[in-house]
Amino acid sequence: MSEVRVRFAPSPTGKLHIGGARTAIYNWAFARAMGGKFVLRIEDTDPERSTQENIDLIIRAMRWLGLDWDEGPEVGGPYGPYLQTQRFDTYTAALEQLKESGNAYPCFCTSEELAARREAVQNGAERQPDPCRCLDHDAAQARIDAGEAHVWRLKVPEDRGTIVVHDIVHGDSEFDASLQDDMILVRSDGSPTYNFAVVCDDVNMKMTHIIRGDDHLSNTPRQVLVYEALGYPTPTFAHLPMICGPDGKKLSKRHGAASVEEYRDLGYLSDALFNYLALLGWAPDGETTVFSRDEMAEKFTLDHLSKNPSSLDFDKLEWMNNQYVQTMGADAFLEAARPYLEQAGYALDERVSTIVKASYPLVRERVKLMTDAVPMIKYLLDEEVELDEKSVAKVLQKDGKKAKTAILEAAKVLEGCEWTVEAIEAALRGLLEKLDAKPRFVFQPIRVAVTGNMVSPPLFESIELLDRKVVLDRLAKAAQVAVD
Ligand code: GLU
Repeated sequence: MSEVRVRFAPSPTGKLHIGGARTAIYNWAFARAMGGKFVLRIEDTDPERSTQENIDLIIRAMRWLGLDWDEGPEVGGPYGPYLQTQRFDTYTAALEQLKESGNAYPCFCTSEELAARREAVQNGAERQPDPCRCLDHDAAQARIDAGEAHVWRLKVPEDRGTIVVHDIVHGDSEFDASLQDDMILVRSDGSPTYNFAVVCDDVNMKMTHIIRGDDHLSNTPRQVLVYEALGYPTPTFAHLPMICGPDGKKLSKRHGAASVEEYRDLGYLSDALFNYLALLGWAPDGETTVFSRDEMAEKFTLDHLSKNPSSLDFDKLEWMNNQYVQTMGADAFLEAARPYLEQAGYALDERVSTIVKASYPLVRERVKLMTDAVPMIKYLLDEEVELDEKSVAKVLQKDGKKAKTAILEAAKVLEGCEWTVEAIEAALRGLLEKLDAKPRFVFQPIRVAVTGNMVSPPLFESIELLDRKVVLDRLAKAAQVAVD
């Protein structure tokens, strides 16, 4: 078999949508698994909606997801340029080829004439071939030379019959060629139509497989006709079912974050988002859900792709993210937390870095999104702690006398004890007997005093990470709040 060549071909009319990201991931993984080439092509022929900013954003989002391409913008390659707006001469050349082979003809019909014909068919008249199909070549040329407006259409063979689109995901679909208008290849302003440009590029870039969203399935029969006219074997198609929101409806803004960037900003890790998107339609086997890019790059095939739309499940995505937080290790945790720490105004000096790394074992099970990290460890980084109102009311003030006693006693034992988790724990547990109180009434006030909240990472470990003086100050302050 010849070398596998696949492409991801985004239109830069917006950011990289997660549906597009999943398509990119599947193309990438297929190329890697088959030892083939993954090409990035920018389809920027819609001048009104395509922007350089969007191209940059898409490229950055792909890089953030860990996708690398063998050919395309920023890396070049033998079949460039990789922006459609820079490839117009190739579309002109393809049209010339089709003219010469008699597969394209100029059509001079006005929009009124076209509309009238369409209406007649709607009213029951038999579909008639485009009258320009059989114009005399010289006469047509004379009209072109005289400057008459015209488009170029594909001359679909009269006896073409049924077009069968073979698709790995959807199976075979049949389309009756005689029910299709001869598609426009090049508009009257000389610009190529979308379906023409895509096929020209896929032919010139020697694509073997087309993996894309199934919103393009309806374009495919037309594209098949263009492949045939250009004399290029039709590539293998795999149209991926769309990604839906949790309610099963087409994904939209209403469902929340839609672009890769937004997920990044919400605190998702690139590895986790990649893994989660990869799972929307594919799995390495019946049970594995957490896998790396390398594993996917090794095992991916087009054989068992799901036919059904996948629904986003935000709980599962959060769970997935936490799986990666749990195993990333302290150094990677610090790196992942870096932008959020900076945003919150922390200078990432030795002290802050050490605390963030040391906090990792305490919080790794609790941090779902990286945006959770700073609020969760703030009490370890700051000199002072902000007391959560609800916690104050419930733990420090409801039974204020007991709370105050526990806090003052804690201060006493912590003043002289050795500063290790074991010693701190032993000292505080000793209070249970001394005060003849349940753990809740002793540890909760201390927890609120030290961490600011009745729900927090483990208490003894937290205390150890803080300076003794800081802990004693916090206890003294909380004792003042805990009046009944
Ligand atoms: N440019 C198209 C899009 O962004 C993709 C075309 C294709 O993959 O054939 O939807």
